[in-house]
Amino acid sequence: MAPRTRNTRGVPTVSELRQFARYHLVRQVYDHPARDEEMGVVPLGYDPDAFEAEIRARADRFEVTELTRVEYAGRSRPIFAVRSKNHSTASKRLLVLSGVHGNEQAGILCVPEILDRYHAAGEEFADVALHVITPVNPVGAAEISRFNAKGFDINRDFVRFETDEGRVVRREIVKLHPDFVVSLHEGPQDATFMFANECVSLELAERLLAALEAGGTVLAERDYFGARLTPKGLSPSKPVTRLLVRLWAATLGMRATNAYCETLGIPELTLESSWRETDEATRIRPHVDLCLALLRELA
Ligand SMILES: [Zn+2]
Repeated sequence: MAPRTRNTRGVPTVSELRQFARYHLVRQVYDHPARDEEMGVVPLGYDPDAFEAEIRARADRFEVTELTRVEYAGRSRPIFAVRSKNHSTASKRLLVLSGVHGNEQAGILCVPEILDRYHAAGEEFADVALHVITPVNPVGAAEISRFNAKGFDINRDFVRFETDEGRVVRREIVKLHPDFVVSLHEGPQDATFMFANECVSLELAERLLAALEAGGTVLAERDYFGARLTPKGLSPSKPVTRLLVRLWAATLGMRATNAYCETLGIPELTLESSWRETDEATRIRPHVDLCLALLRELA
């Protein structure tokens, strides 16, 4: 398997172009939750039954419900909503989308620690409600796949809403109208960065990046397209990217949660840790630290 590093000529290889096409030009890439082994994703041992038990075990401290169940190969898996008990009284709401891409396991495995740290903080977050949807793609998570049971990339479905999972997320966002959304992902780059939509101020993004670095997270110098990140660790919303995103939606009917939230005026950060990192704690840390830093910003 070829390493995911960019070749030295700075020109994309045929395999890189095919991967780009697969991930950016088609909404339904396969007809099943394919594993895409050549992507170099290092699994962290996610076990769907153990994870479901871990979430249910927190029902004494949080309101835990199933938003829906998704079926594949004779089994059904829940998409959980986990809400802090102050959800109807708090004046601020943070929504965390976990596991939109099922094979990006750090974005799922981090959830129990985020819940425990939120709960342990007690009064500090009395006026900030935490809502977590996890895993948004439970079949992909169980099958170690980016895609859902029908081979759709859920994070390309926020124009047409052809997937149950996309519709569930839309329903929750519209109902909740959160003050902030964070979507937890991983990518092939060598360190951590985040995409910010137009509604996220540079000042806030810089404070969050400082919190990530203070926790020991290494921020990426380049994103997974090879573009230099300025500041380090941040892919901010720019006029040219907004134009491309609008064209993407208009021509191919594809949009990610980041741009969908922008249409509603909701700030969204998409966090990307490195799926090539083999150390579980290093992979999970930025997800936990970003959610806690955002909760503190909202408090
Ligand atoms: Zn992803």
